[in-house]
Amino acid sequence: MDTYDIAIIGGGPAGYNAAERAGHAGLKTVVFEKRALGGVCLNEGCIPSKALLNSAKIYDYARHSEVYGVTVKNASLDHKTVVARKNKVVSKLTGGVAMKLKKCGVTVINAEAAIENKTAGGFTVSAAGNTYAAKNLLVCAGSVPVLPPIQGLADSLKSGFALTSREILDLEAVPKTLTIVGGGVIGLEMAAYYASAGAAVTVVEMLNSIGGPIDGEISKILLNNLTKAGIAFALGAKVTAIENGGVTYEKDGKTQTLKCDKTLVSIGRRAAAVSGLEKLGVALERGAILTDEHMRTNIPGVYAAGDVNGKSMLAHTAYREGEAAVNHIVNKRDVMRYEAIPAVIYTHPEAAFVGETEDSAKKKGYEVKCATLPMMYSGRYMAENEGGDGICKLVTEAKTGRVLGVHMIGGYASETIALAAMMIETEIKIGDLRELVFPHPTCGEVIRELLFEI
Ligand SMILES: Cc1cc2nc3c(=O)[nH]c(=O)nc-3n(C[C@H](O)[C@H](O)[C@H](O)COP(=O)(O)OP(=O)(O)OC[C@H]3O[C@@H](n4cnc5c(N)ncnc54)[C@H](O)[C@@H]3O)c2cc1C
Repeated sequence: MDTYDIAIIGGGPAGYNAAERAGHAGLKTVVFEKRALGGVCLNEGCIPSKALLNSAKIYDYARHSEVYGVTVKNASLDHKTVVARKNKVVSKLTGGVAMKLKKCGVTVINAEAAIENKTAGGFTVSAAGNTYAAKNLLVCAGSVPVLPPIQGLADSLKSGFALTSREILDLEAVPKTLTIVGGGVIGLEMAAYYASAGAAVTVVEMLNSIGGPIDGEISKILLNNLTKAGIAFALGAKVTAIENGGVTYEKDGKTQTLKCDKTLVSIGRRAAAVSGLEKLGVALERGAILTDEHMRTNIPGVYAAGDVNGKSMLAHTAYREGEAAVNHIVNKRDVMRYEAIPAVIYTHPEAAFVGETEDSAKKKGYEVKCATLPMMYSGRYMAENEGGDGICKLVTEAKTGRVLGVHMIGGYASETIALAAMMIETEIKIGDLRELVFPHPTCGEVIRELLFEI
């Protein structure tokens, strides 16, 4: 039986990044992947959705280019080409992951792993009829879509009328009508792509706002922009049935059925189950593996990183958690922190945020000082976004002058937010930040302007 220093279950961002770090640290490493290296992120999540959205953005620019003095005649979007390009991007990236793991000596087993036993020297894992022993076990099994027992959903999934995020990224043709159940990040991004591609899209959301926990004002601006882009919204609407080519929901005491060609169910994700985990007695909370700041579970030698611990469900968190776990195994000082994890909605315009909102900061007892500016304060934003209504908000702690949160909507928000995350993570004070030189003209300069509004 082969014996490893670390066995990693799952080859998504948490698992492949941890495997690479472990390989570089000289640990004998094996990673098990039952579907495709790269996990949800590279194969059916972050990257494919962004490839689709980029085509939508180019198409949107082409259709609305006159205002910039550019005339594009007969602009069209060919969905099949968009999906083919998406597949090419995915294949290059996943190939790159395989190559990197090979380069650092990691063994990759393309099979489903099941945890077998705890032994004197560690753990045993079985896959494809073989048994592997490892001193440490890192569970990076990711997540799966939440599919509640809505009337008719199971049959609709079987018939192909209802889809999850996996299938919608690979539809062969753009449906004429598409209903999206759930106005969170995934739902909004898919609504944005398919609306641009020509579908009549309706988003049905149980809450009265879209985008989940994002700042309320930014949520309204996003709603306004997506509505202008032709997406219909039914907010405060509870879906009660998905059957017979229709989505039925209750809103304000009335029941309504939307007939449509396809429906995407995107109401959240939950930690994936791993066979044999229960044999070790690993503690779970609502199905997710409980972990500490080193990604340790309650069982010594067993770690869990990424979506499977249910803490953040973002690829960049998964990377860091995988690293934190490996660093603990090799006795390198490292602690996983969650205060400065940025999140992005890659619609057009894109929205990005990190840290506390004004409300959440107040609820935590901070005395806050906040400032908001239109993105138009940035010369570049002005030059590039005719009629843009983006804003940026800065939330700071009055007592210390440190940044608690940044929330923005508008071009390049996804890139600028990394700077904001660094401000929070390093606890740098407003006074010191004012001395930073920002490149000009950039959309991020709006943050510099905000520093003088506090
Ligand atoms: C449509 C969509 C868009 C998204 N967009 C973004 C985005 O823009 N930015 C962002 O940060 N996040 C995004 N996410 C979330 C992101 O994909 C996840 O947070 C990330 O993939 C989590 O990484 P992970 O390694 O924990 O799990 P996963 O990527 O889910 O990988 C887990 C892997 O483990 C494998 N596995 C599970 N059990 C076993 C087993 N027993 N044996 C062997 N292999 C096993 C699975 O096959 C899978 O490949 C998106 C998700 C979706 C669905």
